[in-house]
Amino acid sequence: MNIILFGPPGAGKGTQADKLITHFQLPHLSTGNIFRENIKNETPLGKKVKSILDSGQLVPDETVIELVLDELQKKRYSKGVILDGFPRTVSQAEALDNFFRSNGDKVDAFVTLTVPEDELINRILSRGEGRSDDTPQKIKTRLNVYREETEPVLNHYQKQGIVNEINGVGSVDEIFERIVNSLS
Ligand code: AMP
Repeated sequence: MNIILFGPPGAGKGTQADKLITHFQLPHLSTGNIFRENIKNETPLGKKVKSILDSGQLVPDETVIELVLDELQKKRYSKGVILDGFPRTVSQAEALDNFFRSNGDKVDAFVTLTVPEDELINRILSRGEGRSDDTPQKIKTRLNVYREETEPVLNHYQKQGIVNEINGVGSVDEIFERIVNSLS
């Protein structure tokens, strides 16, 4: 089963992904985590994307698509994947759909977490993960990028009729229950 976990920064995608991987016994693929790991280890990819992550802008489609499609070919994803933070543009969504289609596979569910904007900002500022892009100015940039470049991805999957819209306000367990119920 291939599940996309979608929503603005601070919506709780990472937290819910951690619970879903245990529940569904599926591997987690978070492009943000992969980029941060590469930055920490100072790999060529890390050096290439560091200033982009710091700015709150998106890594170019070409780089992200190549990374994800290479990753998805690994055996560990043979039973499916929980995608978190990808796709973030319509081009990425199309590349993902084509990849799955050419393997006789598809996106089975698209879960979008809905959270009011003031709550998103409060959550990010209070999560204290020490991320370089978690400052008020960078959060504003990331929310603008989300609205302009990422939100159209929702419409792309709405056309496929696979969107589960979940109220992302509540306790972690409540939200998790809503997601699991929507998928069963
Ligand atoms: P995240 O951890 O998902 O919030 O991602 C952190 C940052 O990594 C984003 O602000 C982007 O700079 C970059 N990033 C993560 N995923 C993508 C993606 N699918 N496309 C472009 N940039 C991405």
